[in-house]
Amino acid sequence: MANVRLVELTKYYKRGSEVIKAVHGVTLDIDKGEFIAVVGRSGSGKTTMLDLLGLLLKPTAGSLFIDDVDTAKLGDRDRAHMRALKVGFVFQEYNLLSGLNVLENVMLPLRYVKNGKDGKQRAVELIERVGLTDRIKHRPTELSGGQMQRVAIARSMVNRPSLILLDEPTGAVDTETAAQLVELLKRLNTEDQVTIVLVTHDTDIAGAARRQIRLKDGQVLTDERMGARDGELVPA
Ligand code: ADP
Ligand code: MG
Repeated sequence: MANVRLVELTKYYKRGSEVIKAVHGVTLDIDKGEFIAVVGRSGSGKTTMLDLLGLLLKPTAGSLFIDDVDTAKLGDRDRAHMRALKVGFVFQEYNLLSGLNVLENVMLPLRYVKNGKDGKQRAVELIERVGLTDRIKHRPTELSGGQMQRVAIARSMVNRPSLILLDEPTGAVDTETAAQLVELLKRLNTEDQVTIVLVTHDTDIAGAARRQIRLKDGQVLTDERMGARDGELVPA
C-alpha cells in the first residue's frame, strides 16, 4: 500500500492570459517511511508539488491519495481534518507563535484532533528528541534559527502524522545547522517510520535522502533511489 499516490497530478496557474503549468501530470507512489528529496531549479514546481501533497492547494486535475483516501472526494472540513491529522508541514519561516513558549508551540496542533490526551507527554518527548529540553519554557524570540527550526519539526510530528513536508528548510541556516537537521530527520524517519519529503537545492542535503526526485517544468525529470549496495543512485 502506497502511503501517498499521485496520479497525473496537475496544477495550473493563470496569470492574465498565460497558463503556467506549475505541476504537470506527475504520477508516482511514495511508500511509508521513505525519505525523499525533491530537487530542481527555481520555478520547476517543487513548492507547488509540496503544497499539493500537504493539502494546502487543490489540484487542477489528477488525483492525490493519502493512505488510500482519495483527497478530491473530501469536503473542506474532512480535508482540513486530514491535513491536521496526517500531514506535518515545516515552513521555511517556521511560523512559530511568538506569544507562546516552546512547549505551547509544539502542542498547538493537538487542538485540531480528538484524543489529544497523551499529547503533552508526546510534546515533551519530542522536545527532548530535538534536543531542546532546556529551552522548553522559552519564547521563539529567545531561540536561534536552528533551534526554532527544531521546534517547528517537533510541532510537525506531535499528531503522529504519516507524512512530513519541508520546503527548503536549510535555506536560512548555516552548514553545520543544516547537517544537524539532516541527522535529526534521518533519526525521526527511521525511529518513527514517518515519510519525509524535503524540497532542497542543496546537493549535500539531497544526498542524505534515499530517493531523489528531480522536477523540470512541473514534470518528473528523474526519479532515483539510492542503491542498497553501493550508495549509487538507480532509477526508482
Ligand atoms: P519552485 O518551488 O521549484 O521554485 P514553484 O512551485 O514555486 O517552483 O513555481 C512553479 C511555477 O509556478 C513558477 O513558474 C511560478 O512562477 C509559478 N507559480 C507559483 N505559484 C504561483 C501563483 N500563486 N500564481 C501564479 N504562478 C505561480
Ligand atoms: Mg519553492
